[in-house]
Amino acid sequence: MKKRMLSLLILFLTFTSNTFAAEPSADGQTLVNLRILETTDLHADLINYDYYQTKMDNRIGLVKTATLIRLARKESKNSLLFDDGDHLKGNPLGEYLARIRGMHKGKIHPVYRAFNYLKYDAIAIGNHEFNYGLGFLKTALKGARMPVLNTNVFSVKTNQPYFKPYTILNRKVIDQSGRSHELKIGVIALMPTHIMKWDKANLEGKVFAKPMVETAKEFVPILKAEGADIIIALAHTGISNEPYHADTENAVYYLTQIPEIDVVLAGHSHSVFPGPVYQALPNTNMETGEINGKPVVMAAAFGSRLGIIDLELSNRTGKWRIVAQKSYTKPIVDEKGRSLVKTDIGLYKLVKEEHEETVDFIKKLGL
Ligand SMILES: [Zn+2]
Repeated sequence: MKKRMLSLLILFLTFTSNTFAAEPSADGQTLVNLRILETTDLHADLINYDYYQTKMDNRIGLVKTATLIRLARKESKNSLLFDDGDHLKGNPLGEYLARIRGMHKGKIHPVYRAFNYLKYDAIAIGNHEFNYGLGFLKTALKGARMPVLNTNVFSVKTNQPYFKPYTILNRKVIDQSGRSHELKIGVIALMPTHIMKWDKANLEGKVFAKPMVETAKEFVPILKAEGADIIIALAHTGISNEPYHADTENAVYYLTQIPEIDVVLAGHSHSVFPGPVYQALPNTNMETGEINGKPVVMAAAFGSRLGIIDLELSNRTGKWRIVAQKSYTKPIVDEKGRSLVKTDIGLYKLVKEEHEETVDFIKKLGL
């Protein structure tokens, strides 16, 4: 009898533990909140510092955005962090690293050191990443500990994507009842085809760029076939409803019309979405931050804002779908330029060597 009780107990435990994760809540729904965070167009602004005026500037710097990232993560059970590209070039620190000091062997570029520290889930390559040539970029990228993506730049030699074209992140998420599920998040990354003009000397004969929307349409079925529950586009491109053409610099509006793409992280134009600049855009909801029904965010530039998209996902039938969405940005200063967040001291310490070298170099030049 005792033995029988024990085996029944084991059977019960096995049964409950196997079914626990997939069991829906009382109303038949499993609901998961997923927060997606974006930085974009950092242009090597790691520190809250203006190298041109050699003084602190609290309106910029990833050391400030990092505090917003930490707070945003704290508020959510499940979050993902992405950078949308143009992170290596644009200020004297970036110039100093690429043109003066170079990459020391075994040393990680401070931008990627910062990204590793903040545990980015994936990052996109922006058009400015090509400004120092493919050789420098490849060396620098060796230090990045997360998927570095671009879908629409191809190798001339192989006719294959030059970078990793997409990734599928397998993430354990906790639902509203505290149960754990696995979610597959597909990520692609796009940039304007203009790189072939802007960086002709660095790129010609080595790579070519395919149109953003067509390339996205070509790749999303692959991600779906590999089991992606949702697809996020790291779109290093601006927002405009000008009629679409293959060489547009602003493809976000048309990327949102691709049914399989669920979320678009925009960039490149250093603007803020949702924000007043886009008030007249058709099929756009400024309250929820949606374009053509899809959540979109653009977090300005230089670390001045953090982009946030809050999703609620439901699983009633074994398939995940987004049932609520809202996008917005958070600034690091108020309208008067007063700092709203503390500096992430850990991050500051991690990149201060190159920062101080850059400042010393500028001062020596007497600039
Ligand atoms: Zn750009």
